Amino acid sequence: MTNTFEDILHRQDLDKEQIKVLLAAEGEQMKALLRRGREVKFRHLDNYVHLRGLIEYGNVCEKDCLYCGLRSGNAKVERYCLSDEEVLSCARLAHELGYGSVALQSGERSDPGFIDRIDQLVREIKRIDGGSLGITLSLGEQGEDTYRRWFEAGAHRYLLRIESSSEELYYKIHPRNDRHSFQRRLDCLETLKRIGYQTGTGVMVGLPFQTLDHLAEDLLFFRRMDVAMVGLGPYIPHPDTPLYRLRDLVPPAEARMDMTLKMIAVLRILMPEINMVAATANQTVDPQGREKAIAAGANVIMPNLTPGEYRESYFIYPDKACVKDQPDQCKSCLDIRLAAIGHQILYNAWGDSLAFTKKAGKA
Ligand code: SAM
Ligand code: SF4
Repeated sequence: MTNTFEDILHRQDLDKEQIKVLLAAEGEQMKALLRRGREVKFRHLDNYVHLRGLIEYGNVCEKDCLYCGLRSGNAKVERYCLSDEEVLSCARLAHELGYGSVALQSGERSDPGFIDRIDQLVREIKRIDGGSLGITLSLGEQGEDTYRRWFEAGAHRYLLRIESSSEELYYKIHPRNDRHSFQRRLDCLETLKRIGYQTGTGVMVGLPFQTLDHLAEDLLFFRRMDVAMVGLGPYIPHPDTPLYRLRDLVPPAEARMDMTLKMIAVLRILMPEINMVAATANQTVDPQGREKAIAAGANVIMPNLTPGEYRESYFIYPDKACVKDQPDQCKSCLDIRLAAIGHQILYNAWGDSLAFTKKAGKA
């Protein structure tokens, strides 16, 4: 059997070595790979882009991930938590703008007050126009009872990035202690799936010590876990975090962007029907980054609806894109930017993962 780049590009059942060949593509081969990602997406999912209005609920965090500005050890960040009314007015705005879904994201907290409030907020959001908004949560690791409570309240998607599927690399970017356990993160993903969430995961691209081997393994991990959604984005060094010391080991922004695009395209080939987020971090490293991610195979965008006065405090990484944008400007900007690359937003729809709904239909 021949194994030229062209042959590999047109297979779906790729093995690790073939994935590495695709991830190493440069120049014309890289362009062919990104075209292939887009082609596969169009064949399975058409040219639709789904929106999730992003509500950054709060930046208080119990964890100390070595890369993130919200880590509990960062004394420089001013902590906030949105009021119930602020969250609900963001959700009402998402509905008015026709976004179809909201995503509630925050630093990780496991206190009973937090768990109760999220439960109540999910129920309130569900009451808007008779349950017309889909709800994604991205609130970190929680116990099974909590995940179940929020699911029963009405949340139906959960995003928990594994950050790296290599245990060894995971512990280079997280402290090794009770609060940061690779095994627990894996267990959480299994629990979310078992409960019935559309479960999403993902990794950062361009981490210190990360190799092509790690990235190929990450893609195989997503396939093995049979996840419904993936969010991939470049790692962005944050000066107030311990990992910043290793910034010389981080590839330049352009290389991180290119690798993210190649990861998106290969993943689209491997898992044609999943939902894939064009992360805001893409736009931070490249002004066209979000559109490039969509053009390479992603199909979900999360426009920020967090009230303006809090946005700069959700300081995960520096120079976050769209921090000053108003929601209505953001909507028309997105329509124009996406039309320019041959895509359209599917308004007023939940935009569930086809990979998930097909499986649920068969069950
Ligand atoms: N606390 C939740 C969690 O960790 O799953 C959700 C919020 S957390 C800020 C969302 C994502 O931000 C993380 O999964 C991580 O991949 C990403 N992130 C954090 N710091 C980053 C950085 N410096 N560069 C790029 N992405 C980063
Ligand atoms: Fe907290 Fe999530 Fe940031 Fe880790 S990535 S420090 S859990 S907000």
